[in-house]
Amino acid sequence: MSEKIIPIADIRYASRVPHVPAHISTPTGLLADTLGRPLRDLRISVTDRCNFRCSYCMPREVFDKDYAFLPQSSLLSFEEIARLARIFVANGVEKIRLTGGEPLLRKNLEVLVEMLAKIQTPSGQPLDITLTTNASLLAKKAQSLKDAGLQRVTVSLDGLDDAIFRRMNDVDFPVADVLKGIEAAQRVGLAPIKVNMVVKRGTNDAEILPMARHFRNSGVVLRFIEYMDVGATNGWRMDEVLPSAQVIERLKTEFPLLAVKANYAGETAERWRYADGGGEVGVISSVTHAFCGDCNRARLSTEGKLFLCLFASQGQDLRALLRGDFSDDQIGGAVGHIWQSRTDRYSEMRAALPADASPPDTGRRVEMSYIGG
Ligand code: SAM
Ligand code: SF4
Ligand code: SF4
Repeated sequence: MSEKIIPIADIRYASRVPHVPAHISTPTGLLADTLGRPLRDLRISVTDRCNFRCSYCMPREVFDKDYAFLPQSSLLSFEEIARLARIFVANGVEKIRLTGGEPLLRKNLEVLVEMLAKIQTPSGQPLDITLTTNASLLAKKAQSLKDAGLQRVTVSLDGLDDAIFRRMNDVDFPVADVLKGIEAAQRVGLAPIKVNMVVKRGTNDAEILPMARHFRNSGVVLRFIEYMDVGATNGWRMDEVLPSAQVIERLKTEFPLLAVKANYAGETAERWRYADGGGEVGVISSVTHAFCGDCNRARLSTEGKLFLCLFASQGQDLRALLRGDFSDDQIGGAVGHIWQSRTDRYSEMRAALPADASPPDTGRRVEMSYIGG
């Protein structure tokens, strides 16, 4: 099949129908892209909708009542997602993260988790399955997610000060309810729980120490994320980024920290532990310390488009293959071909530019709420 650009009604980003190689070989799970990076981590967005309007992700001026979210018919069904997951696992993926939008808004998500939990790697190992959530529905769903086979969760929480948090989620959602979600996840054993805090200088950086104090000694791993220039709607400015090095300096004013070695190649967080045994914290320095060299992540949008970078503007329409007359091996061959052609390294390219230069032009970039974090 030759490559072509397809104009369809619900399309918001350019996409291609991938090339399906004529000769398909048995997947080896050893794919490498043009920079030698393996395919290990698949992030699946299960909805582009969210009940929050975090200004750095879905500013309400853009994502308002007239915003055209994807229609139900565009979404991949659970069967389609599970089929793709099996194909990706045969091609090397070991870890799946469900995300969105807000993944817990997708009806019966537990059913999908149960389907994914049955998938094993070619060497017979279970998949590492996790989910990133704003936790607004976690207290209600933690038990059923755990029962379905979810192993752990990452919760996003941008501060403990109620006024600051309500302003940042922009729907007046209280901190207390997120904390109840975290407690429920802890109670049912969705562990280890990670909490991600996006730090915006001048907005919530005063929450760094209170968050650290709160989650020390709790078993929860708190991670501070640099505010990123993803998407095209959040009005990102470099002066609102607080470099992770400064986050660590602030933490060290109160808590002696020791560096911890990465768990595995491609780990996004730089890890630290409290010298007094109070647990672990981390920083994700997507802006000041690009980690493209180890990036083994692919992202699947809610409507089945494959993106190879958070800053990409064009996806590969795997849904067209799923709904066409192709076998799993043929779709796997197409995925292999896509991954082997991958050259993406946006953050490294931006880091190589002078501070006042415009960022690399990759076209109209996808929104984080569409492809998931
Ligand atoms: N709604 C879920 C949540 O918030 O956890 C999952 C989807 S959200 C897009 C995934 C992660 O992306 C969240 O931890 C969020 O804080 C992060 N995120 C979104 N926009 C970001 C930005 N501009 N910079 C850094 N992190 C961002
Ligand atoms: Fe929703 Fe998550 Fe984006 Fe906030 S970060 S608007 S909770 S998708
Ligand atoms: Fe991976 Fe793209 Fe982020 Fe680099 S910029 S780490 S290639 S997602």
